[in-house]
Amino acid sequence: MERADLLSLTPDQLDAVLAEHFRLRGQGAYRVGQTRAWLHERDALSFDELTDLPQRERDALAEVFTLCAPVPARVEQSADGTVKHLWRLGDGELVESVLIPSPERLTLCISSQAGCAMACVFCATGWSGYRRQLTAGEIVAQFRGARRYATERDLGAISNVVFMGMGEPLMNRKAVFPALTLLNQAYGMGARRITVSTVGVVPGIAELAARPEQFRLALSLHAPNHELRAQLVPLEKKYPLPLVLEALRGFEAAGGRRITFEYVLIDGLNDAAQHAIELAGLAGEFQSHVNLIPFNPIPGTDWRPTPPDRQRAFAEILEARGVPATIRSPRGRDIAAACGQLRAEHVTRPPRPYLNLVGLQPRPRGQAGP
Ligand code: SAH
Repeated sequence: MERADLLSLTPDQLDAVLAEHFRLRGQGAYRVGQTRAWLHERDALSFDELTDLPQRERDALAEVFTLCAPVPARVEQSADGTVKHLWRLGDGELVESVLIPSPERLTLCISSQAGCAMACVFCATGWSGYRRQLTAGEIVAQFRGARRYATERDLGAISNVVFMGMGEPLMNRKAVFPALTLLNQAYGMGARRITVSTVGVVPGIAELAARPEQFRLALSLHAPNHELRAQLVPLEKKYPLPLVLEALRGFEAAGGRRITFEYVLIDGLNDAAQHAIELAGLAGEFQSHVNLIPFNPIPGTDWRPTPPDRQRAFAEILEARGVPATIRSPRGRDIAAACGQLRAEHVTRPPRPYLNLVGLQPRPRGQAGP
């Protein structure tokens, strides 16, 4: 029989499983809390670390259960302090997580899938294709590993977790939902400090809205209308904007939680004044905030980020219409840890000739927008 991974179990499940295990072994019920503390508070990586349990109890746990412990295949630190972990999972798959320090926060960006099936045309992960779902244990393992790293180096406590690494979290609800429970109940992350970022998986947004906790939602929008968005984000064809916006209304109604719109600014493609005006109209309906992300160039394309003066002009149009907007500064570019650059190297395929694929051509450099 396959051994169960204790790190994939929610706190209630873990307690039940451990209570039964220790009862069968004639051990006191206090062993449950003792074991749980090692897993959830001390980030133990193997049963051998549970040093206040007798050796025979550690051995017995290891016989019946596993502790999923991805190995850091590579750790890279950027000149700006950003730290990227490349995790090798049990079957050799690779996923990445990124620690992003700033004066007021320590944000951890984690992956929910190995690869991604969404194939957004500007995203490096989208190119590498889909490999497989992560388990809840593999998702929280990124948090545990990064927390150990941060503790050992006095970087402080992780203050925010964002599902903005590899993968589409709402296409892996089976693991992401228990991982949310775990991060919140077992690992001390307040729900408002956990953000699920989605490209617009409508049923997933509804399920997240139905949860009692105040998890935050970010929608990767990138275009203010169906026609343009369908060319950048293939999922738009399955869940068109009107449906996505309806799901966001449901999310807001369920708990008054602020929504973030993410918008990658690509030179000459989605960054005209008209796009900003349309975006303000759309975002203005919500208690929202727009995060403008200058496009991070990825290999195999000649798309460029919108230049800084026009990034600011775009943001000002939003602000003038009452929509708060910030321009996200690229972090960790030197170690390919910036937004959209995450891509495990062994799954790299030759870039698709996607400019032709989507029939999109940015305007020639230097020309004014429409
Ligand atoms: N699938 C989820 C989670 C991935 S989040 C989602 O799409 O929201 C990754 C964020 O980085 C998304 O907002 C994505 O659109 C953005 N991104 C992807 N490629 C990028 C690139 N090349 N430059 C800047 N941002 C990018």
